[in-house]
Amino acid sequence: MKEKILDENTYNSLVVGGGIAGLTSAAYLARAGQKVLLIEKNKELGGLVNSFVRNGYHFDTGVRALEDAGIIWPMLKDLNIQLEVVKSPVSLGIENEIIAIETIADLQKYKQLLEKLFPESVNEIDEVLKVIRKIMMHMEVLYGIENPVFKDIMHDKHYLFKKLLPWLPKFIFTVGKINRMNMPVEDYLKTIVKNPSLRDIISQHFFKNTPTFFALSYFSLYLDYFYPKGGVGKLSESLKNKILEYGGEIKTETQITEVQADKCIAIDQNNNSYNYDNLIWAADLKTLYRLIQTDGIQPKTTIKFEETKRKMLKSRGTDSVFSLFLEVDEPLESFRKIAHGHFFYTPSKLGLGDTHREELDSMLRNFEKVTKEQVLSWLDRFTKLNTFEISIPGLKDASLVPEGKTGIIISLLTEYNLFKEVQKADWLTEFIHELENCMINVVTDSVYPMLKQKITGRFSFSPLNIENRVGSSEGAIVGWAFEKDMPVVSKIQYSDRSVITPISTIYQAGQWAYSPGGVPMSILTGKLAANKIIKKSKN
Ligand SMILES: Cc1cc2nc3c(=O)[nH]c(=O)nc-3n(C[C@H](O)[C@H](O)[C@H](O)COP(=O)(O)OP(=O)(O)OC[C@H]3O[C@@H](n4cnc5c(N)ncnc54)[C@H](O)[C@@H]3O)c2cc1C
Repeated sequence: MKEKILDENTYNSLVVGGGIAGLTSAAYLARAGQKVLLIEKNKELGGLVNSFVRNGYHFDTGVRALEDAGIIWPMLKDLNIQLEVVKSPVSLGIENEIIAIETIADLQKYKQLLEKLFPESVNEIDEVLKVIRKIMMHMEVLYGIENPVFKDIMHDKHYLFKKLLPWLPKFIFTVGKINRMNMPVEDYLKTIVKNPSLRDIISQHFFKNTPTFFALSYFSLYLDYFYPKGGVGKLSESLKNKILEYGGEIKTETQITEVQADKCIAIDQNNNSYNYDNLIWAADLKTLYRLIQTDGIQPKTTIKFEETKRKMLKSRGTDSVFSLFLEVDEPLESFRKIAHGHFFYTPSKLGLGDTHREELDSMLRNFEKVTKEQVLSWLDRFTKLNTFEISIPGLKDASLVPEGKTGIIISLLTEYNLFKEVQKADWLTEFIHELENCMINVVTDSVYPMLKQKITGRFSFSPLNIENRVGSSEGAIVGWAFEKDMPVVSKIQYSDRSVITPISTIYQAGQWAYSPGGVPMSILTGKLAANKIIKKSKN
């Protein structure tokens, strides 16, 4: 094939979105020799896989630790990236009971913890644990080999014959089982657990309607967590370096505001235009579908496009997250004695009950009639009954904090619309301040008694900050909400199709392209989208 000469603003591939998905796509396209440009709206790359420093304390903006899922390590190996990592063991705690999860055998400790707190539900706990064990076996199959998408199957005969082929029948069998466990975890637990508090304690730190398999597989994932030395952002940094090493270009502080599909042109906020042969959209999909101009595109394609757009725009993102960042004048050792640096903690065994969904929904339906006092009283209960994800980067890598100090990130899942309504009512700053106070009080009164007196600095990110920063609809942190009518592929055996859009020169990747999303699937879809383009350019 005759090689095309490309002018300055013309690219074989344009990748929009410098999160982990876009970085993966751009690295693979650049390695394949494509002229590729990665465009990112923020100054920093990484999106929700990012770290930053404030007053000498290193914090992670989004994800707190990484799970391989048979994807991250094979990708790093394939791109010849050396990433220095440590294990990121998890602790689980409810009230005064705290256990460390270090091996599969610790599942037994979890069982004992639940039995101690809910002695009247021993049989039900036994049932739940049986299901978790079964799911763990399925997970071993699912993630048990390096994902073939990152392997050179044609040349790696050992992998092909000794690993992939023997694995395939087990995979097909397991996928069948997984697809049958798609029911929302809240509904599934109702079939085996009568005690509503116990159900909440097991499931309340998952997104609304999380598929049972995904939620109950978390025990396996706890064992899989690792942490790059220097913070999770090091993963994004290593991919950025690879893109540059392979000759790819990166443009930050540039936001794509229009895509003219028929002309294959993307336009940024300063009216600069970029010509492309193929585009990968690795950012929020509602945004893409809103800004694509389809004039001049074949009517058949336009019909398909409009149908997909309608589906996307009527769907919404998952729950969002509120994260509180604390600079604490207390040595790491004080916290190490209590729990690991990645800690899921529930201060009360009562569980959220109706507080989280029904009460909040009813408040949001009539928000103009709800008083500030009612909202704050709800907030007080919401924080006392919730489950927190607590991350202490210094316990994973002591170089991430000033000597003798500790940086802590405390977060909880929360509803974007609540922040939107409070903002409309014009008391967002006060609300956020109160939420921070509630979280600090609850955690001090329950698990870290020294905390409140030793805080020297604090700030937080709300769902609205997430929306503004990475452009994520509804501030969602893993893509689409778990609804029946999912607008994207949600079956692992069809993941290859998840990156296709109705327009043949535009692909999609990242947490919005496949559900359930998250870091590993964002990386996988980033690679799948790059593969499609590389294959096309060879034909
Ligand atoms: C607190 C928290 C905890 C999490 N925990 C986990 C976990 O335990 N396990 C897990 O797997 N996942 C977890 N996640 C989710 C995970 O971090 C994300 O799903 C994943 O990082 C998404 O990557 P992405 O590249 O698809 O999207 P993003 O990271 O959102 O990247 C999209 C990028 O596109 C840019 N962009 C948007 N619009 C434009 C535009 N018009 N022009 C140019 N650039 C644009 C954005 O600025 C952003 O950098 C967590 C997330 C958070 C916030």
